[in-house]
Amino acid sequence: METSRIPGFYNMTVEERRKLLASMDMFTEEDAAYLFSKEPLPIDTANNMIENVIGTFPLPLGMGLNFLINGKEYCIPMAIEEPSVVASASHIAKIVRNNGGFTAEATDRVMTGQIQVVGCADFNEAKAAILNEKAMLLEAANNAYPSLQERGGGAEDLEVRLINEESDSQYGKMLVLHLYVNTCDAMGANMINTMAESLAPVVEELTGGKVYLRILSNYPERCLASARCVIPPELLETGDFSGEEVRDGVIHAYEFAASDPYRAVTHNKGIMNGIDPVVIATGNDWRAVEAGAHAHAARDGMYTSMTTWYKDEQGNLVGELELPMSVGTVGGSIRVHPIAKLAHKLLNVDSARELSQVIVAVGLAQNLGALKALATDGIQKGHMALHSRSVAIAAGATGEMIDMISQRLIDEKEIRVGKAKELVEEYKK
Ligand code: NDP
Repeated sequence: METSRIPGFYNMTVEERRKLLASMDMFTEEDAAYLFSKEPLPIDTANNMIENVIGTFPLPLGMGLNFLINGKEYCIPMAIEEPSVVASASHIAKIVRNNGGFTAEATDRVMTGQIQVVGCADFNEAKAAILNEKAMLLEAANNAYPSLQERGGGAEDLEVRLINEESDSQYGKMLVLHLYVNTCDAMGANMINTMAESLAPVVEELTGGKVYLRILSNYPERCLASARCVIPPELLETGDFSGEEVRDGVIHAYEFAASDPYRAVTHNKGIMNGIDPVVIATGNDWRAVEAGAHAHAARDGMYTSMTTWYKDEQGNLVGELELPMSVGTVGGSIRVHPIAKLAHKLLNVDSARELSQVIVAVGLAQNLGALKALATDGIQKGHMALHSRSVAIAAGATGEMIDMISQRLIDEKEIRVGKAKELVEEYKK
């Protein structure tokens, strides 16, 4: 893929977009057969994925364009029902690429498993007993899932925490063993759970306590990805707003989210607007990513902004985002769902680390898209214009009626289903 900058993609028909991507060798005929078929997720596959299946639930799959991350071009598949998200991410990516694109980093994929131990006669002695046998416990964990070590990963560290040490309740006091496992290119939940369960008997023996929970933590604080962008103010100029005004508006908006949880939650929802569609399209567990991201946003005791925006010494706007990112390029449904397989091909990432870098860059772009709109025209102008098509469809518009009615709704500044219904009736007369 030479470039993710595809002028005019927005105005093409779906058919033209597919043809163009095929001409850029982004699909094979086999891939296209999945994407264009009436049943991209075959019902038999779906029936083997979960229980009580009666059908599938399709979502629009759009392409986030213009992304340049660590010097590499990415066309990013995004599965989402909300209008303006894909357009906004692509718009910001276009601005950022004009100053070199995003830079991104990621740690190794080190996930955390937890083993809960209760009822120890002496919790400090129990802790010491575990730490004394750290090497043996790590070896035992690796023996329970040897293929990870063969790939260069595996259990690599453990820690012990004592929780509610002063508690008088028989239920409150506990020892928690954290097992840190490099799960390579897998999200690793099943791998970690297998390891944690296998350690339970030996942990009980060492501590004299009883093990209850043995499960992955969805706050993988050693599995982080971060992205950064630097934007000169002239690239931010919008309509009547100077670049400096837009930059300052973005920083004021960030400070609001940084200091107020009520704003932070909406600010962060906007970041997840970019992240979830990529996580979903790539067949990853978006509940896990959501849970970890919000926990990270509250890591210092107050729920706050996931991103940071500030002005550097040259007057540039600088944005940064760091999040735990428990995603994989293998495992779970990733190699089962045909569209998820195709999404990985479109993205052209070589590892879970690279995928996590792309995802945080999209989150950062999405955040700037929202803050830039909020700091200038307000969010409704662009959003409602795009939303007008959904409103027209909800009111019963079909075919060429959709464009016509959506345009009337915009022109008459009344983007409501009630108004659209009146127009549909008018059109049918
Ligand atoms: P899998 O159980 O599918 O394990 C990953 C698989 O990928 C293994 O079979 C492994 O093969 C294979 N693999 C191939 N290449 C690699 C590579 N380069 N690196 C690593 N593995 C490789 O999935 P996960 O353990 O990742 O678990 C993810 C699933 O667990 C998700 O569907 C998630 O929804 C679910 N889950 C989530 C929970 C949570 O979030 N709390 C709890 C429980 C489940 P091999 O076996 O040969 O090593």
